[in-house]
Amino acid sequence: MSSPEGNVRFFKRLWHLNIQNKIKIFVWKAIHAILPSRHHLASRGVQIDPLCPRCNLSNEHSFHVLWQCPWAKDVWSESALWPMLSRFLGQNFMELWCWTILNGPCDDVGCFAMISWSIWLARNQWVFEGRSMHGREVVSHAGNIWAQFLTSKPVRISNTINEPHLIHWNAPPVGSIKINVDAAVFDDSDFFGVGVIVRDDKGMVLMARAGCLEGVLTPYLAELLAVREGIILAYHLQWTNIIVETDARNVVEYIRHPNALAPEASIIAFIRRLMLQTSGLTITITITFCRSFANKAAHELASFGLRNLVDVDYKDCCPFYLSSFVRSDFTYDL
Ligand SMILES: [Zn+2]
Repeated sequence: MSSPEGNVRFFKRLWHLNIQNKIKIFVWKAIHAILPSRHHLASRGVQIDPLCPRCNLSNEHSFHVLWQCPWAKDVWSESALWPMLSRFLGQNFMELWCWTILNGPCDDVGCFAMISWSIWLARNQWVFEGRSMHGREVVSHAGNIWAQFLTSKPVRISNTINEPHLIHWNAPPVGSIKINVDAAVFDDSDFFGVGVIVRDDKGMVLMARAGCLEGVLTPYLAELLAVREGIILAYHLQWTNIIVETDARNVVEYIRHPNALAPEASIIAFIRRLMLQTSGLTITITITFCRSFANKAAHELASFGLRNLVDVDYKDCCPFYLSSFVRSDFTYDL
């Protein structure tokens, strides 16, 4: 591997991550092996034993603390990144960083930075306070700090929520796509329906989904899960500008102002995380509210999924039962 400075694109990923700046700087220091580890301090003339105080097996340099030390391995093995990281055979932190970027899904890179940071904090706790943390605690600590940081950041939610004139479907701005989502709940069913329809700026249907999921849910939760379906799809579509539209006003409000103690907090945190993660990838996902009249196509898909207990994806075409709804959206907007 060449010098750290030679890997511009790997550093770009670091500066674009949705994590605190102090953690980006920490990773940068780890890559350059200048964290104030015992080995580093000793090499700078400080009178200190350079051995790792935890394992006494090797000098305590950055890469040892964060990866090579058996205790660090215990932490990583508790994380969801372990299947990807356990195959790593490199010799320094820069290589480990590049490995994560090349081998993990994009969400993993932020997760990797957060856990590295938590390992360093736990190391300091051990060195300065003699307090030991279990690997699982370190991983959950990393997850908590990240969730707190992401919850404090505003996600893109359009301000049109109270505008009464938005009763018809509107095509998205040129170059954007719009994903309408809706849920269907029947009183006597153990299932709920989810409808998703993706249209471009000309109103053309790029994709549609009529889905059916198991569970007896309140309409609010079903609508929230429909939004989650839309956001996951948006995340994978990799389009530059994506609007996810729902007719559930309360869902939009709760995503805008999440309550960390609500039972559905983890679903909302997941939605917010996907929305924020995309900003480093030059994708913008915005959630908007529309009247139910403007969401008829998505509603029809959700009802179809629930009535027939099916999961169907339609690519580049519009199913026959949907065409009249799509046509009427056309006439209003175009
Ligand atoms: Zn060690």
